[in-house]
Amino acid sequence: MSTGCLFCNIVARTTPAQIVFENDHVVAFKDIRPVAPTHVLVIPKKHVVGVHEAKAEDAQVLGQVLLGARDAAEKVGLASYRLVVNQGPDAGQSVFHLHCHVIGGRTMSWPPG
Ligand code: AMP
Ligand code: ZN
Repeated sequence: MSTGCLFCNIVARTTPAQIVFENDHVVAFKDIRPVAPTHVLVIPKKHVVGVHEAKAEDAQVLGQVLLGARDAAEKVGLASYRLVVNQGPDAGQSVFHLHCHVIGGRTMSWPPG
């Protein structure tokens, strides 16, 4: 069933995505507008808007996203990578279903823009 949330629709397979990793808790897929040679998004199967909106009972979900990011990075062959969670519009969040960017394949600069 299609919902109003793009990433819930990717979880439900009603919107296509290039999925690189999946387990019981998360789905990882290639970002449609990559900012590096490798750019994967890891999302929880549960709809959580963002870190700020997460509740105490979402602690497992938050942990599963980080472990999923680790597993997705391993799956696409990244040993060194940056994990980014944009929280809120001013930070660049454009999809309001929690996601962790896994970015790699080039040298990263610091501080981030
Ligand atoms: P953010 O701006 O942090 O909310 O990240 C959202 C990311 O989702 C952006 O990097 C987009 O390029 C990516 N994105 C948007 N639509 C899709 C899609 N249909 N498939 C894959 N990635 C997407
Ligand atoms: Zn959602």
